[in-house]
Amino acid sequence: MSAQSTNLYEGKAKILYTTDDPDILLAHFKDEATAFNAKKRGQIIGKGEINCTIAAYLFQVLEASGIPTHFIDCPAPNQMRVQALKILPLEVVVRNIAAGSLCQQTGLPVGTVLPDPLVEFYFKNDDLGDPLLTRDRLMLLKLATPEQLDQLQSSALRINEILRDFFHQCRITLVDFKLEFGVDRHGEIRLGDEISPDTCRLWDESEDDPDRRVLDKDRFRRDLGQVEDAYQQVLKRVLEQVNRKK
Ligand code: C5P
Repeated sequence: MSAQSTNLYEGKAKILYTTDDPDILLAHFKDEATAFNAKKRGQIIGKGEINCTIAAYLFQVLEASGIPTHFIDCPAPNQMRVQALKILPLEVVVRNIAAGSLCQQTGLPVGTVLPDPLVEFYFKNDDLGDPLLTRDRLMLLKLATPEQLDQLQSSALRINEILRDFFHQCRITLVDFKLEFGVDRHGEIRLGDEISPDTCRLWDESEDDPDRRVLDKDRFRRDLGQVEDAYQQVLKRVLEQVNRKK
């Protein structure tokens, strides 16, 4: 971090610092954990390093498959240099299996395999509780252009294919996950934020027990215990898979 760097933005899981280069930001991943729009707070020891490392590998897997991301490199285990993006105020959620808010809002039983991946757009707005958007509401609020929306939809589905395959090779089921996108200085849409056990539901393929299989932030949300162990387990399997591919 340079002497001139300033804290540009502090989110729930990361702090973004400016660098000497206006096109490059430094993301510092925190151990603090929040859930339910920060109503629940805690700490997951080592989470910053684990999530930063997992996200770095997943961004590289995606880049290798032609998905533009903001990832540059990691100068420290809990720090990531990223391209500065103008973040679209949207959370793009992709679901393969019913869980979480989909079950609460539709009554679908947890674990229902969806016939096709579901892509949903949420308004990234804490004051409003990140509400689910319809396409028309998204247009009404001018949160993205129709072309951007189509691009986000197809990019999210392609990312799902790549990540689902990667996690399957780690013996992990990718249940659902959240993505954030932004526009770079060339006007190109890039994947931003992070992909980690904080932002994905990940189930151990070899476990049927609905609590024991959970390897993600639901352990924290639902007080299932052994949160650190689960995050470590994901990191271990991701690293093993990355090394196998080398
Ligand atoms: O809560 P819900 O079921 O809608 O979450 C879907 C997916 O998006 C989960 O993997 C969850 O971890 C992720 N998510 C997130 N950040 C949010 C909301 C959801 O990472 N603000």
